[in-house]
Amino acid sequence: MLVLLAPPVCARINVEAAGAVRQGEVLRIAAHEAAGDLEATLAGKTIRLFPGGDGEAVGLMPVNALQEPGTFPLIVKSTGGEELFRRDVNIEDAGFEKQDIKTSRNMRGLSAKPEEVKLMQKFNSTVSDRRFWVEPFARPTPDCMNSPFGVQRLHDGKPSGNYHRGLDLRSPAGRPIRATAAGKVMIARRMAMPGNIVGIDHGQGLLTAYLHMSRIAVKEGAMVKRGQIIGYVGSTGFATGPHLHWSMVANGVAVTPLQWAPEIKACAARAAGTKP
Ligand SMILES: [Zn+2]
Repeated sequence: MLVLLAPPVCARINVEAAGAVRQGEVLRIAAHEAAGDLEATLAGKTIRLFPGGDGEAVGLMPVNALQEPGTFPLIVKSTGGEELFRRDVNIEDAGFEKQDIKTSRNMRGLSAKPEEVKLMQKFNSTVSDRRFWVEPFARPTPDCMNSPFGVQRLHDGKPSGNYHRGLDLRSPAGRPIRATAAGKVMIARRMAMPGNIVGIDHGQGLLTAYLHMSRIAVKEGAMVKRGQIIGYVGSTGFATGPHLHWSMVANGVAVTPLQWAPEIKACAARAAGTKP
């Protein structure tokens, strides 16, 4: 749903963006008749806009899953600070569920290493100029979803202070995992919590990661095509059984992959044990 926002409080340029977005989603912004570099701000988050086709500038405004719902101004400025557009956008409650995970002794013994935390922070904040992704995104595996994005996590009944930053596909061990869009492999290694993980930079602030693989099929630094096999489903790291955890980051914020692959369906009956 893309509507032209009118009448803007302040508009020296035309900006297209939906009037509402839910927690954990991306608000697409397209600015027309814009000269020079632009940035957009919503609810304290500022992003760069990149040249699209036909002289427009486009950007992916992420809304944090933990962002309080409400009405916030979407402001587009020149990088020099001149306000060119302003209009209210409603951030809506996504109604995320709570979910309890029964952890195993192996899982409880896992903790992220400082260098791994640093590497993930660096990856998650990557915003590179060149865009490799095109829509629609491919599905990483053809399977149903048994745990959605945004679920508040409890471990053995206790709040973990965390939420599910991706979605889980109920994929059997050994099934090939495919890159959902073209991009550059930034991470392809074994880490404590994610297990075998591949992280791809698709450009202009869009990243995807694939966790708990049994085996990795690409190398760091490699370019991959949409649909290319990047690894195989497993249960390495913080996982209760084989599944694929697929996560997406837009301009530094974890967002729901479902917005990019809406054809993914929830599994008919959720498995008794949930999987991180
Ligand atoms: Zn997961």
